[in-house]
Amino acid sequence: MRVSKDIGQAELFRGVVALIEEADTIAICAHTSPDGDAIGSGLALAEIIRAAWPDKRVTNLLADKDPVPRIYRFLPRSDTFVHAADYDVTPDLFICVDLSQRSRLADAEEICARARRVAVFDHHPSGDRFWDAGVVRPDAAAAGVIISEFGLHSLGALTPTMAQNLLCAIVTDTGRFQYQNADSEAFETASMLVDAGASPAEVALNVYQSDRLAYVRLATRVLARIQVFAKGRIAYSFATAEDIARAGVTLDELDGLIDLVRCIEGTQVALFLKEVDGGKVRGNLRSKCDLDVSGVAREMGGGGHRAAAGFTAAGTVDEVLAIVLPKLRSLFDGTASNAAGAADGATPAAAPAADVRGASR
Ligand code: 5GP
Ligand code: MN
Repeated sequence: MRVSKDIGQAELFRGVVALIEEADTIAICAHTSPDGDAIGSGLALAEIIRAAWPDKRVTNLLADKDPVPRIYRFLPRSDTFVHAADYDVTPDLFICVDLSQRSRLADAEEICARARRVAVFDHHPSGDRFWDAGVVRPDAAAAGVIISEFGLHSLGALTPTMAQNLLCAIVTDTGRFQYQNADSEAFETASMLVDAGASPAEVALNVYQSDRLAYVRLATRVLARIQVFAKGRIAYSFATAEDIARAGVTLDELDGLIDLVRCIEGTQVALFLKEVDGGKVRGNLRSKCDLDVSGVAREMGGGGHRAAAGFTAAGTVDEVLAIVLPKLRSLFDGTASNAAGAADGATPAAAPAADVRGASR
């Protein structure tokens, strides 16, 4: 089994190991609204540290007050997370997983600020460096790939529970090995994890085959509302606060809806919006081509990767659509295919988002 033997990465791992060795208390935290990579990678890293350095006191933190999303509660030790707001320790070491932007730590940002040292394992394009040691590799499909390699570096072999958490991280962040980030390193790492005892079927059963009926009913509304414009190259849909309340679903259950929007043939960029608490809208952006949607996410106050990015903006679905659809449209400006697209009257400017949406309710 090859799984990355990157020498530069081994050097960076040694930097993190030095911080772990000099620490007594260690807190591990991933980003707000945690996904499978955030949950699985954090749990696996904690187990790796406990196995390699049994005298360390390691705590997995959740950045915000929500519980672990239902579909990830099957993961080993997922019941041991502590909410950052309830953690009053000043840890010797704070390890960020699946994020390298402090603001995405939500309630844990203060813990990171007061921690003696900070390390990071991430795969997002990063901004300011605020950590003492770590690995930030935007070419890695998931933080779980890097943590798998860190586990091999530190222990030589992984336990079945480490492997299960890490496989879930990689399966979810690659969209079941369907997204552009599903590279040979992701497949090789997943293969190594299955050898170590992870069960792909159990991940699939819990994450992709356990939808509540209430969610499926809401999904049909979202599907029925999908609109395409710019000659079919952009597709979007949304769920309002009223839809969500009426369906009786939790917000994390809606994380998969962007995948329904991206399914449309010919669509190159997909957007899903949902109204969340506090008069805000959360947006998921996906690119199925070379276009980079992270710039639009950043302009909207968020961030992410080229092909998968997100943001939270103030306003209603209508108001946010009116701002974001023209930005998506302009991604295609200047491309050869857009010359033909210019004659396509369905630009957001020509057809205000509210009208488009009204027709589809
Ligand atoms: P999702 O749309 O699934 O929430 O996120 C897609 C990707 O973009 C993930 O890698 C996620 O971490 C990143 N992302 C989502 N929302 C934000 C945000 O508000 N800020 C930043 N910096 N990244 C985000
Ligand atoms: Mn990730």
